Amino acid sequence: MKKYSAFAVAREALRDHLGWEKAWQSPEPRSTYDVIIIGAGGHGLATAYYLGKNYGITNVAILEKGWLGGGNTGRNTTIIRSNYLQDPSAAIYEKARSLYENLSQELNYNIMFSPRGVMMLAQTQHEIRGYERTAHANALQGVSTEFISPQRVKKLCPIINIEGPRYPVLGALWQPRGGTARHDAVAWGYARACSDMGMHIIQQCEVTGVNTMNGKAVGVATSKGTILCEKIGIVVAGHSGVLADMAGFRLPIESVALQALVSEPIKPCMDVVVMANTVHGYMSQSDKGEMVIGGGADGYNNYSQRGSFHHVEETVRALVETFPIISRLKMLRWWGGIVDMTGDRSPIISKTPVKNIFMNCGWGTGGFKAIPGSGWAMAELIAKGEPGPLAEDFRVTRFREGQFIDESVAAGVAH
Ligand SMILES: Cc1cc2nc3c(=O)[nH]c(=O)nc-3n(C[C@H](O)[C@H](O)[C@H](O)COP(=O)(O)OP(=O)(O)OC[C@H]3O[C@@H](n4cnc5c(N)ncnc54)[C@H](O)[C@@H]3O)c2cc1C
Repeated sequence: MKKYSAFAVAREALRDHLGWEKAWQSPEPRSTYDVIIIGAGGHGLATAYYLGKNYGITNVAILEKGWLGGGNTGRNTTIIRSNYLQDPSAAIYEKARSLYENLSQELNYNIMFSPRGVMMLAQTQHEIRGYERTAHANALQGVSTEFISPQRVKKLCPIINIEGPRYPVLGALWQPRGGTARHDAVAWGYARACSDMGMHIIQQCEVTGVNTMNGKAVGVATSKGTILCEKIGIVVAGHSGVLADMAGFRLPIESVALQALVSEPIKPCMDVVVMANTVHGYMSQSDKGEMVIGGGADGYNNYSQRGSFHHVEETVRALVETFPIISRLKMLRWWGGIVDMTGDRSPIISKTPVKNIFMNCGWGTGGFKAIPGSGWAMAELIAKGEPGPLAEDFRVTRFREGQFIDESVAAGVAH
């Protein structure tokens, strides 16, 4: 793989940019691999990358039914933070956040990580207590957060209306090294690095069945034929239930649509990420100038990847009351993704009833921020056959044991 650098850009400028090579190869599948990863979203690609980097396992195929990064990874609002309440969550999200810090250099691909700071507004007494508690928990976990005053909120983000027509801003949980990254670039960067290690990324290759023998998976049926393997990692977000069904087990997971939208681009007016969980909306400004806006998930199960007017209306109403200056902005486009929700709003990184199939799912509305940490933990699980310290609490059997990692209240909103 040729290294991207200022020197390379200058060299290519002198020869009409004819020397760039494809960022990743698109090979036809081989008949057999050591490991098959199903799903070329951020989590699947990161899993493959750390399998190669940390364990030297490179005879890997990543099978994708559409195009890589075309699932939730390319549809999210890119918020990165690690200020979770529960210890296992804080550990894996902080691992991910810290890996994001140097990911551009590591992958030699600019993922545009921007640690501009994330604030979660407290607009009720309940939220103040909740976020103060989280700030104390984060101090013990080694995650750098702080509960800040309304005046500090206004200073950090002058366009917020802290008086609020319904809910004045009473403070915020502030994570200064939280932020955003370019979501497609995260998928592309990992894909390029995987391809460079000789792994096969096979797009337009839908897995339609899982072949098992004596309680063990031996391969998968795909739209490009049967492919054999030693181990399988299923990393398909909203389609996790469908794949688990193919492998013969059930998951405690639901799929719902989550929507986002962006405005027309405007001049820079906001250099932090703000989440207003009581009125329910969140916003940041992209490098192109668009205001990136997200809201809540649909209240019913579905596999739709589209937006809907009633959600747009609800979300925009919440944000106009928080940021009155956006009231005359035109909205440019909106879309949906299929998110995989567990009952405790925490992920599953786990062995399964089928011996050599491993699951990574349940990231719901908040898994973009976790991609590097999740890939790291999932690679360890697949390579060793047992979870490491980052993954062990996220086993699927916790739902039967009553060992929930409850982030639904702690996070307020799980982005
Ligand atoms: C609107 C929206 C906003 C969000 N905002 C944030 C945010 O601000 N911050 C945050 O941290 N998270 C956010 N998220 C959540 C985040 O996007 C997801 O948790 C994360 O991207 C999941 O990544 P993934 O790799 O697991 O899944 P995906 O990126 O969805 O990848 C799964 C892949 O599996 C493929 N697949 C499915 N079935 C098959 C099959 N049978 N065969 C082969 N391939 C298959 C799919 O095509 C897909 O490409 C948001 C999500 C949405 C939808």
